[in-house]
Formats: sequence, structure tokens, C-alpha cells
Amino acid sequence: MHSNITTKTPPALIGMDHADLLHLCQQAEVKSVHAKQLNAWVFRHGITDTRQIPDLPHALYDYLDGHVGQLKPECMANRMAEDGTHKMLLRMPDGKEVETVLIPGPKRLTQCISTQVGCAVGCQFCLTATAGLTRNLSAAEMVSQVMTARDISDQEIRNLVLMGMGEPLHNYEEVAKFVRIVTDPLGLAFSPHRVTLSTSGLVPGIYRMIEDELPCNLAVSLNATTDDVRSQIIPINAKYPIAELMTAVREYIKFKDKNRVLIEYVMLGGINDSSEDARRLITLLDGLGCTINLLPFNPFSGTTFQRPDDATVSAFRSILVNAGMVTVVRKSKGDEISAACGQLKTEVTARRSKASFG
Ligand code: SAH
Ligand code: SF4
Repeated sequence: MHSNITTKTPPALIGMDHADLLHLCQQAEVKSVHAKQLNAWVFRHGITDTRQIPDLPHALYDYLDGHVGQLKPECMANRMAEDGTHKMLLRMPDGKEVETVLIPGPKRLTQCISTQVGCAVGCQFCLTATAGLTRNLSAAEMVSQVMTARDISDQEIRNLVLMGMGEPLHNYEEVAKFVRIVTDPLGLAFSPHRVTLSTSGLVPGIYRMIEDELPCNLAVSLNATTDDVRSQIIPINAKYPIAELMTAVREYIKFKDKNRVLIEYVMLGGINDSSEDARRLITLLDGLGCTINLLPFNPFSGTTFQRPDDATVSAFRSILVNAGMVTVVRKSKGDEISAACGQLKTEVTARRSKASFG
């Protein structure tokens, strides 16, 4: 189960962007045109055993044999809820497990990708936070979530949201590489408008996205309208308070004016769900053209937070809608299969320890 840390596994082909594939061709002393061929076979057709890729020069086959590896995570749990939400728990070669969820839309699927094993941010309302951060996922491990889901599902995956386990901007390099791989028109070819990175508000990371012109949309988990409340539920707010975060959001919008920023707002009963909160939210987002996603809290065992009742959610939404803001209440899809952030992993782990101790 555990990898031998003294043996270095060669890097997986699915974690390589076009520049890496060109570099491979250079190293193997073959024409650079073969990089495009590799791109197409690996990402379009999902062939990751290089010997199964047809028509490559012999020198390239030989080079690939010694210098690249494969990454095929094992699917440990695969559950479909009645509403069609489909959740998978994937085990990586070192035994660490991450989850990915397919969410049905009107026409196509949206896949929720994990970017870390655990998370270091420590949001009070989030189950992933409870175990802290174990490690970052590599770009290859993130791409492997897409490839595995694509193999398992018979429907087309149209949107990718980096809203699974982890804080994407705490793992910037690998996440940026993942975004470039999935949006490469020669490869997985997702439209950059259909890939969304969600952050708890790491301000320097947002500026880095601007600098790098990262080809994806931005979602910000605002979750509160005063620094007092936000710092209590999202510890990094003490470092990057709301005003600084909103300045970064405005800069992002200036740089990408066609791409609206999505504002996520977890609704916690009695904490951030009052009509004053709704009005403060309107002031904070005034003129920005953001879409607001309201996420009624998804409870888990041991939490003291409560999900607000439907009437409260609906009243909150009405205030925003009446002020002209596009506001969507996210139905908590897949409740019965624990589709909230980090919940399948925790549930499977709990069942395992029950099995071994009782
Ligand atoms: N770390 C990133 C992305 C992963 S979390 C972030 O925080 O944005 C994805 C979304 O799930 C975030 O908007 C987060 O606020 C929300 N979330 C986390 N736990 C939740 C819960 N128990 N109920 C409802 N939404 C939750
Ligand atoms: Fe991490 Fe996001 Fe969960 Fe906060 S909500 S602990 S940032 S995964």
C-alpha cells in the first residue's frame, strides 16, 4: 500500500502540459510534432500506456519506457444518488484518498475536483478542515480525477469546478498546471469559461492568477459580511480581511471584464443569514456584476452550526434578487450520499475504523 520512498517513480504523462511533452520529444531527439500526437492520444483518447499509442518513432517509445510512468488511481467507492449525483473516492499510489463528484446539470455534467488531501485553512463549517492538511495533490493526480470520471461515466463532462477537498491557491503551481492541461485545445479541451477555481480568499493567489492570466474563472467563498464573523469562521480572514479581498476581486474583474466572479456564501443559521447580512452583501458587491451562490450549510456529525430553514434562505435570496443581483441557491445535491465537501472520505474512513475496532 505504501510507496517505497527510496524508489523515484517516473512522472506521469497525464501531469504534463504541452511544454513538458515538447521537452520530452527534445530529450528523445525526435521531431516536436510528436508532442501533439502524445497530447491527442493521452488526453483525447485516454491511452496512458505509451506502448499502446500507435505510430510513434522507436526512439520515442524507448525514451518514454524509461522516463514516464502511469497514474491510475484505484476507485474505492463509487456511489450514485437518486438525483444523479455521483461520488467517487479515489486512492492514489501512496494510499492517500481524495474524492471527486459528478453533478448532473440540465444537459451536461459538472465535475468537482479535489486539489489537496485535506486542507490547512481550517474553516469552522467545513468537514475537510477537521483533519488538517495531509499533502498537496499533483497536477497528474488532479487530471487523473477527470480521466477516471470520464471512463466511469457515459455522459459528457462539460464543467470543472475546483471545489472539492483543499484550497487550490495553497497549491498554486500544480493547480495552474492542471488548469493549463485541461484547457489545452489539443488535449482535454475544456473551455476556460467552464473551469472555475474556488478560493477561501487567499489574496496573493488571486493576484497571481491575474499575473499569469490563468485560463479559468474565479469563485470566492465570501461567507460573511463583517470581518468579525468572517475571521471567526475562516481563520485566514485575519490576514486577508474583507476589504483587501474585495480589492483583489475588483482587480480581477478589471482584468477579465467578460468573466464574472462567482461569490459563494455558505449560510449558517443565526450567524450570517440575517437581512442585515443580505444588505451588507449588496453594498460589498455593488456594481461588480458578480453572481451569488447561496450554499445552505450542509451539517456533519459533531458540528454546532445549523442549516437555516428554507424560509430564511428564501428571504435572504429575495433581498439580493430585489437589488438586481443574480442569486442561485445551491440545492444540496447528493445529501444521501454525503456529497458535501469532504464527507464521503470521512464516512468511509469511519466505517473502516468501526470495522477494525468493533
Ligand atoms: N477551499 C476552497 C474550495 C473548496 S470548498 C474554498 O473554500 O472556496 C468549496 C465550497 O464549499 C466553498 O464555498 C465552501 O465555503 C463550501 N463549504 C464547505 N463546507 C461546507 C458545508 N458544510 N456546507 C455548505 N458549504 C460548504
Ligand atoms: Fe479548506 Fe475550502 Fe474547507 Fe475552508 S471551505 S477548510 S478553504 S476546503
